[in-house]
Amino acid sequence: MELFYIILALFIGSIGSVGIASLLLLLPDYRLSKLSELLVSLAGGTLLGAAFLGMLPKAVSMLDSTMVFKLVLMGILLFFILEKFILWRACHNKDCIRHQNASAQLILIGDAFHNFIDGVIIVSAFYTSVEFGIAVSISVFAHEIPQEIADFGVLLKNGFTRKRAIYFNMLSGATALLGGLLTFFVLNVARNMVPYILAFSASSFIYIALADLVPQMHKTIGIKKSLIQLFLILTGVAIIYLIKNS
Ligand SMILES: [Zn+2]
Repeated sequence: MELFYIILALFIGSIGSVGIASLLLLLPDYRLSKLSELLVSLAGGTLLGAAFLGMLPKAVSMLDSTMVFKLVLMGILLFFILEKFILWRACHNKDCIRHQNASAQLILIGDAFHNFIDGVIIVSAFYTSVEFGIAVSISVFAHEIPQEIADFGVLLKNGFTRKRAIYFNMLSGATALLGGLLTFFVLNVARNMVPYILAFSASSFIYIALADLVPQMHKTIGIKKSLIQLFLILTGVAIIYLIKNS
């Protein structure tokens, strides 16, 4: 396993997405929210694809399947609790209730924690194969950009200058590197942890997709927009399928 590629993927998935998000802030507001909407649907598909086509089959092949499903169940419950208490979430709308009630600090802490887990997930995916590692990095990239854009909005509203908002978002993104490197070294000495971390990762991806992203998609009920959403979800699944089987 090339540590270099892992670090590169972690960089692109975390700090890269903050960079892109801060560039996108230069777009006019309506364009930005339109783009965020599209990315949310695409991300939903890649997250579900990564969990069900990659992480879970791999975990089941390495570990007793009843154990895997128990871990996924526990993970989903854990993420529900975490989301309630520390704002671990993916919400692309800066005007949502959670964003409105959150202080800048809470946003940054919640994000730092979320990004840490994303780092863990990226590295565990690389342990199944390089292709799958890339596929999962794309999933992270796709859901992080709308997330970061919304967070920027909150930080700016809280009186942060643009520069300071970018700096702090980068800092909270850097926890992905920390989580990723830690996972890399742990898995290097304890390979038997891989299926456990994969099952946990799958629960995180399923939770983000179904509990955070789908409710955002359902805010729109127009037939044309809904069909676009469905198309993007399927595209997301297809991207993971194609990369994984390439
Ligand atoms: Zn994330």
